[in-house]
Amino acid sequence: MGRFFQILAIFLLPVILVGGLFVFGLTLPVPHLGRDYVISLTLPESGQPVDLPTIYGPPDNSRPLVVIDPGHGGKDPGAVSGGRREKDVVLALAHAVKDRLIEEGGIRVALTREDDTFLVLQERPEIARRMNADLFISLHADSAGEVDTAYGASVYTLSREASSEAAARFANRENSADLLNGVVVKNQSDPVNDILVELSQRRVQQTSREFGELIEREGKGKHRFHSQTQRSAALAVLRAPDVPAVLFEVGFLTNAQDAQQLSSQEGQDRFAQFLARSIRVFFARRSTEES
Ligand code: ZN
Repeated sequence: MGRFFQILAIFLLPVILVGGLFVFGLTLPVPHLGRDYVISLTLPESGQPVDLPTIYGPPDNSRPLVVIDPGHGGKDPGAVSGGRREKDVVLALAHAVKDRLIEEGGIRVALTREDDTFLVLQERPEIARRMNADLFISLHADSAGEVDTAYGASVYTLSREASSEAAARFANRENSADLLNGVVVKNQSDPVNDILVELSQRRVQQTSREFGELIEREGKGKHRFHSQTQRSAALAVLRAPDVPAVLFEVGFLTNAQDAQQLSSQEGQDRFAQFLARSIRVFFARRSTEES
């Protein structure tokens, strides 16, 4: 019996010692391991569930839902020019469009962010998917270095390969917001996701392009557009395979006239008017297609 306890003690002693060290490691600084080493295992931000935003408008799930995504936010200002920050400009525009849609009634609206908070790029289309959105619009503003000659809005839809060098550069810049959090999403390879993308993307992309053309049609004469208005790029924020999605680049902050139009009350009202109308026409068309 005594021998049994001796053997047990021999085996248990190292376990107790290591266990003891581990426990102290968690609670006391250990000179060579260091307490920080033990407790620095924090989860990446994108691993945490995101609270879904508030839905405004009629409390009726049969009504179409548009999710408007003001780009950037928080520690990521986006483009900055003449004291104007992209994150503020697009947030104000998003609120203006939301208010306009609510006022006119019939359509449900949610914003991915309602204030100056940081959202990981990957979370934005994910919010639209989880909310069963019928349309996703990401709002951004552009910048062109010191050049004042670039102006006007463009509408981007998703392409598997960026369709031009400029689009590729743009995709690079907008996608790099992910790197702020050390989370790379643009080359994520997931076989299930790839199949889903293949199956639904063609139809959804066609619908997305139709909405892009509607924006241009409704905005003509009310908003300045770039000479090449419709573009496609490999943008991470548009990767919600089952939700029609566009990235609306509303103009250049580096262009004085664009910046004035996008920042003034009058310009924002006009913007809200034509974008709300585009959304309304889009849903009206879809409902006649379905019935
Ligand atoms: Zn942007």
